Amino acid sequence: MYSFGKAHMSTLLDEIRQGHIRVCDGAMGTSLQDRGLDDGGAPELWNVEHAEVIREIFTEYAQSGAQLLTTNTFGGSRPRLQMHGLEDRVHELNKAAAELAKSVAANYENVYVLGDIGPSGDLMEPMGIMTHDSAKEIFAEQISGLVAGGVDGILIETMSDLGEVGAAIAAAKEVAPDLPIFATLSFDTNLHTMMGISPSTAVVELTGLGADVVGANCGRGFEEMETIAIQMVDARPEGSLLIMQTNAGLPELVGADFVYNGTPEAMGILTQKLKDAGVEVVGSCCGSTAEHTAVIRSVMMD
Ligand SMILES: [Zn+2]
Repeated sequence: MYSFGKAHMSTLLDEIRQGHIRVCDGAMGTSLQDRGLDDGGAPELWNVEHAEVIREIFTEYAQSGAQLLTTNTFGGSRPRLQMHGLEDRVHELNKAAAELAKSVAANYENVYVLGDIGPSGDLMEPMGIMTHDSAKEIFAEQISGLVAGGVDGILIETMSDLGEVGAAIAAAKEVAPDLPIFATLSFDTNLHTMMGISPSTAVVELTGLGADVVGANCGRGFEEMETIAIQMVDARPEGSLLIMQTNAGLPELVGADFVYNGTPEAMGILTQKLKDAGVEVVGSCCGSTAEHTAVIRSVMMD
């Protein structure tokens, strides 16, 4: 069992190092909103109540060339599910989400599934109530559901506090020691995270904490993501792998809806710059669709 796990880990990371895997999928949350998820609705419930919709989104991404599919579990931790009265279903919803993504990945050659972990919604001490141990416990519960569903790696994303990421990485290492860990922060506050972390500090610290692939996601659009990526490339420790997943531009309020202004063409231009700078994996975040994925695929696998 252990030797299988280790072989498994080296497979995905080796595929990235060798340039065979370079394309992550696009947005899930905004894709669900486009398909009828209400403002206050729990996206994770759709893994069991609207599985066909999630399957359709993954299929579009895989057909457009995504090689990494991300489970619909961004808010799948106990504190986040508690906001919807779903705190007793952490294991079930995360396991179902992983099985769903794997069932689509199985239809394609060389497509892997990353179990998605978002911020818990609580703050670390001293600003909030979470300690390293309590945060680790929260993430371990979620990760064990994702592992039961068969994920190939863990993606910790949209984080701003290194202490919280550290707890999530520690949980992943304990629950799933053989799975590769991806960790990305959102640098949405003057090119820093909300907690004041810079891209260059992040790439060093996240690697030091044991993440195998590190980078940035979400954020404030293409230009800022390019700047963040360059700073991370310049500061990256030897052997680290980088992943960048920008929003599809900045959201603009049109009527009652947020509309993302980043076109697939502009995503292609950014992707070329990220590739030239040496970023190994590119995907996209809020507001993106399979059209963006198709462009990313054509640039990264050119
Ligand atoms: Zn986003």
